[in-house]
Amino acid sequence: MKIEKNRVVRFHYTVSEPGQPPVETSKDREPLAVLIGHGNIIPGLEDAMLDHVAGDSFEATVGSDQAYGERREGLIQRVPKKHFRETRLQPGQQVVLNSSMGPRAVTVVKVGGTVVDVDLNHPMAGKTLQFQVEIVDVREAEQVEIDHGHVHGEGGTQH
Ligand code: ZN
Repeated sequence: MKIEKNRVVRFHYTVSEPGQPPVETSKDREPLAVLIGHGNIIPGLEDAMLDHVAGDSFEATVGSDQAYGERREGLIQRVPKKHFRETRLQPGQQVVLNSSMGPRAVTVVKVGGTVVDVDLNHPMAGKTLQFQVEIVDVREAEQVEIDHGHVHGEGGTQH
C-alpha cells in the first residue's frame, strides 16, 4: 500500500544537518505514526514519503523553507529563572519552557542571576535537514482519524 493522503504511516527517522552527527532519532523508541495530508509533519518530509511503501528506506534532504522556516530576529526574550525546571542552565542548551501558549522548545542564549535570555526560534529553524527514513507500515486511516486530523491508537493520540 502506497503512502498517500488519508493513510497512516508508521516510520522510523533519524535527522541531522548535512554532514553532521544525528540530532534526533526515533530508533530508541516506538516508530512515529502520522496521518498523511493533514500537516502533522514538516511538508518536505511528507512530500518525500509519498508513494513509498512498507519496508522502504530512503534519505531526504529538506530545505528550511520546507522544514521549520527561516530564523527570525527579535525572538530573544528575557525570562525569570523561576520559570525553568532545570537548575543548571547553559548557553546553547535546549529546554522546554511553559509559556502562555503551552510548552515550547527554546534555546538558552545567556544566563543571568535571576533571568535567562532565550531564543524562541525553533532549534531547527533556518537549517537544511537530512532525514534517514524507514517505513514500518502503511494503513488506511479510520474515518474518525480523518475527521480529527490525527492518528489514534498506537503511536498516536490516545483519547
Ligand atoms: Zn482524535
